[in-house]
Amino acid sequence: MHLRPLPALIAGGLAAAITLGAPLSTPGSAAPAATPTATSDQASIRSAVAEVRTIGTTVRGRQIRAYRLGEANATRTVVLIGVMHGSERAPGLTLRRLRDTAKTVTGVDLWVIPVLNPDGAATGRRANARGVDLNRNFPHRWSRSVSGAGRKAASERETKAIMRFLDRVDPDVVVSLHQPFAAIDTSQNKRRGLVRALSRELQLPRRDIDCGGPCRGTLTGWFNATHAGEAVTVEFGPRPTKNYLRRTAVRGLVAAVGGRLR
Ligand SMILES: [Zn+2]
Repeated sequence: MHLRPLPALIAGGLAAAITLGAPLSTPGSAAPAATPTATSDQASIRSAVAEVRTIGTTVRGRQIRAYRLGEANATRTVVLIGVMHGSERAPGLTLRRLRDTAKTVTGVDLWVIPVLNPDGAATGRRANARGVDLNRNFPHRWSRSVSGAGRKAASERETKAIMRFLDRVDPDVVVSLHQPFAAIDTSQNKRRGLVRALSRELQLPRRDIDCGGPCRGTLTGWFNATHAGEAVTVEFGPRPTKNYLRRTAVRGLVAAVGGRLR
């Protein structure tokens, strides 16, 4: 495992734009109500997973897990994150499908976190168990006046867990997957190639997604302002088909970040 030193602060002036709208009124297929034990979880995974890492534990005792696929010595490291909002379940389905595929991912060192907010997923709610919207809790343009932002920046276990993980792995690319706006967010535009590739491969248009005003305390805003790599928000539609989630999105995500599924 290549643990890199903490990255220097860069691009502090980058805008925080991004994600998330209202919770889905009609949640799709169920996400796991609780994460299984490490033993049973690992037993269900086929050979494509090279490593399982517990990156944190919620206040309800659920573990947040990252799964490493792909080639550990690849030059490009990628992290895909789903279900930061418990009501947005479609990305979790795609990332679990990718995790469980028997195919081999080549060309990238790929980490998949299917469910960042397992307590929210268990109840189908956007926020975590403490009522905090994790994508308003990151320490970049955080504001207590934003609904659900938490009592202070990075107050939540899930926020701290993913920050710690991203600091250590220091990926070149982070894709934060949400619903339901059916678009690739262009409001940050750190580099254009990735946004274009995501748009092409996931068959979603590119456009600016705001937060009903400037975005504050978001994961992608924080990552883009503090790391050399690039974070992009992807919004699936409100009701993507199972075929889209299990095939198009799985293959499309891997292709868009420079990998291949064999
Ligand atoms: Zn979301």
